[in-house]
Amino acid sequence: MSAPSRPEVVVDLAAVRRNVRTLRARVAPSAMMTVVKADGYGHGMVEVARAARAAGADWLGVATPAEALALRAAGDTGRVLCWLTMPGEDLAALVAAGVDVTAYSPADVDLVVAAAQAADVPARLQLKIDTGLHRGGALAEDWPALVRAALVGEAAGALRVTGIWSHLAASEDSAHPANDAQEAAFVEALAHAEEAGLRPEVRHLANSAAALLRPSAHFDLVRCGIATYGIDPAPDVAEGDVPGGRPDLVPAMTVRAPLVLTKRLQPGDGVSYGHTWVADRPTTVGLVPLGYGDGVPRHAAAGVGSPDAAEVWVDGRRRPVRGRVCMDQLVVDLDGDEPEAGAEVELFGTGERGAPTALDWARACGTIDYEIVTRLRGRALRRHV
Ligand code: PLP
Repeated sequence: MSAPSRPEVVVDLAAVRRNVRTLRARVAPSAMMTVVKADGYGHGMVEVARAARAAGADWLGVATPAEALALRAAGDTGRVLCWLTMPGEDLAALVAAGVDVTAYSPADVDLVVAAAQAADVPARLQLKIDTGLHRGGALAEDWPALVRAALVGEAAGALRVTGIWSHLAASEDSAHPANDAQEAAFVEALAHAEEAGLRPEVRHLANSAAALLRPSAHFDLVRCGIATYGIDPAPDVAEGDVPGGRPDLVPAMTVRAPLVLTKRLQPGDGVSYGHTWVADRPTTVGLVPLGYGDGVPRHAAAGVGSPDAAEVWVDGRRRPVRGRVCMDQLVVDLDGDEPEAGAEVELFGTGERGAPTALDWARACGTIDYEIVTRLRGRALRRHV
């Protein structure tokens, strides 16, 4: 790739396809849901959805109805699960579009029944049990009432229960006791539902980390988000503790920009707002035209909320971010080098040759790589290759 003429987020869809195929093979015979919410974790929802379908994704997963309907508007006709609706929300358009919707409570089931009546087609409904994340889903004590409400809806012909599912709290830590407890609670909830007469098509619990670390949690379907984008969902787990070994995932996102200018600084010269970094030696710094208005975390420099600076890749070397990240630009220490204006700056990408990755940025910014890639949805041109 030649140096970019302006900031860009390059998304490698071949990497997405390859990752989906790798993950699908890893979880077979369970089916694969590719999670494309939040604009495909910042990679472009529709483009990622198409790539994932081409690579065999059986399902797509989204949080909001707007995301599900955008997939339909883009021509996706496959199975889509949506799991975050608002109280009292009108779900008729979703039901009419054949999207699987999620109920956490009998009140949600009532909304789905009303939507099915309005759309004049039976709804596809999935029930969520809260096995311990304590986010969405019915608590164990409320599960029988949710199952009963769904059975009443089925008997009335208003809906079909297509799935029962839950979500793990600590899947990236294979030794965390919540994993066993949640899996056991899930099995119990399934047994209750089946005894009561529900026959869901799919039962699912695992996300990317559980896809790799916990085969017992695969059930019928695995919901993979972050690993689809080539990001290791469990970077702190030792290789020997990944059954079958770490899969070869390829990071799909590379963030690049041209270097705008370089300048020489003398000892005592402060950089950026508040002078949180002051040169302690003669050096050169470079201006990179990306900032928090583009989604780059503001505290990417050492001493600005983090012990280590995030680094960028210029001329075959890592260069630390210095001073506060501004809205539109950031400054890096070039350590005396003076690359030409227009030289390529890579914030993060595949990590080849030792260049920084989204995980490196996450560690420097005190967050997770999920957030680093998902927030890159500002002004920078996004280009799919
Ligand atoms: N399932 C649900 C309900 C989610 O909210 C998410 C994402 O947060 C996922 C699956 C995918 O998780 P991951 O990106 O860790 O694979």
